[in-house]
Amino acid sequence: MSGLGRDLRQVVRGRVLVPGEEGFEEAGAAWNLAVRQRVSAVVEVADAADAAGLVRFAAAAEVSLSTRATGHSPSAAADGTVLVTTRALDEVEIDVASRVARVGAGVAWQPVLERAAVHGLAGACGSSAVVGVAGYTLGGGVGWFARSRGYAAHAVRALNVVTADGDRRRVTAESNPDLFWALRGGGGDFALVTGLEFELFDAPELFGGRMLWPAERSAAVIAAFQEATAEAEAGLSLWLTLIQFPPFPQVPEPLRGQAMVAVDVVAVGAVTGPLRRFDEIAGLVLDTRRPLDAAQVGEVCMEPTDPAPARVRGELLTDFSAEVGEALLAAAAPQGSVGPLALVQIRHLGGALATPPADAGCAGGIAEPYLLSLLGPAPTPEFEALVVERQAAVVDAMRPHLSGRKPFTYLDSGENPAAVFDTETLARLRDIKARRDPDGLFRSNFPVAPPLGEADPSWAAAPATV
Ligand SMILES: Cc1cc2nc3c(=O)[nH]c(=O)nc-3n(C[C@H](O)[C@H](O)[C@H](O)COP(=O)(O)OP(=O)(O)OC[C@H]3O[C@@H](n4cnc5c(N)ncnc54)[C@H](O)[C@@H]3O)c2cc1C
Repeated sequence: MSGLGRDLRQVVRGRVLVPGEEGFEEAGAAWNLAVRQRVSAVVEVADAADAAGLVRFAAAAEVSLSTRATGHSPSAAADGTVLVTTRALDEVEIDVASRVARVGAGVAWQPVLERAAVHGLAGACGSSAVVGVAGYTLGGGVGWFARSRGYAAHAVRALNVVTADGDRRRVTAESNPDLFWALRGGGGDFALVTGLEFELFDAPELFGGRMLWPAERSAAVIAAFQEATAEAEAGLSLWLTLIQFPPFPQVPEPLRGQAMVAVDVVAVGAVTGPLRRFDEIAGLVLDTRRPLDAAQVGEVCMEPTDPAPARVRGELLTDFSAEVGEALLAAAAPQGSVGPLALVQIRHLGGALATPPADAGCAGGIAEPYLLSLLGPAPTPEFEALVVERQAAVVDAMRPHLSGRKPFTYLDSGENPAAVFDTETLARLRDIKARRDPDGLFRSNFPVAPPLGEADPSWAAAPATV
């Protein structure tokens, strides 16, 4: 047994695995299998007290810690660290009277949605309910209710954390305003979060689902999407996706290997009028729209729930006019299919995202009206190279319509938060990091500051919000 493994077992009660031991590879594997983090140990902390003991040990031993809930956003920045997994921090408490959820840092969205839906309440989850509440919310979180409620981070009222000195703290706007600001959008670089408390909201009348057409209808669907989003109220969220379904057995037979175009919708209340724009488009092969239970919002986009290797690239669009739609179609699907990519998605933003509250945390708001994301499978290094090349080509073609900023939760391994924040916000985050964690004990997958001595220009701040 390695010295590190032996030492860790003396201080934590959860499972400890080091390289070479049976179970290490499995415990170290992220949900996104495209990135294998080369960590020196995996520690599955048993509870918050265990996490605090681990932090005190790491500080004394001068070991850095990275943290994982589900591993939807692994990155090479965690290489060399001890990886803390929070799976055992799985409590979910719904306080109906105060309309608040208190969840452990290892919880995914689905159990929160299910428990809240029983009371007619919902939380600000994204497209997939197997994504972790912690990483999603610490990075802001742009989901189905972002137009009506803002970032998921805006709903946070308190975070239970272990700080770099090994103390357990309940971080609120009053107790630790600097940490409270940084942890709502700046990722996990400032503390080890053991639990989150956030507001739920009424979801009495939800309607949603997916409309799907063959890819030949893309131009007509894009035009209808532009018209519908131009008149959509904040309660109506519309996402357009150009899809190349993979030829895998998990994909239902009629869709397997097919190039398609989808519009996904979630409507809160009676705001579905703009959907008439899609009525005249022929060839609809699937329409799952229906009254939705709040626990079902994670099903709308039909995203895979099992681990898979993928590369993602996110960008913010300054507009999505007819000209931009044509440019996107030409760049992303030159032969009618987005392959080697699997998904090219445009999310309509705006609404509450464009008018953030004064206490929005470092996430702030998003002034850009649309989000572009490009996702491709990475089953082999060769295919991954094709995906990355196509992502770069599409981004190059779209550059005149991009603001140059990225949403935090869309960062991929190798990218950093300098692409997310403006100069002032980035400087404030780096100052908080330097004061709260001067020895770099915590290593976020997307650290706010470069490693000492790094002079790469990619660490310069993003342009100011458009
Ligand atoms: C299929 C899919 C769908 C998605 N849909 C959306 C979407 O609709 N909207 C959106 O905004 N994003 C979306 N994302 C991105 C998602 O929000 C990020 O991947 C997010 O980081 C996932 O959080 P996690 O905790 O599950 O992931 P993890 O990979 O476990 O965590 C990500 C990072 O968060 C930090 N972190 C996690 N837990 C802690 C903790 N306890 N303490 C300190 N730091 C911590 C760490 O730096 C960690 O490395 C999606 C991703 C996928 C793969």
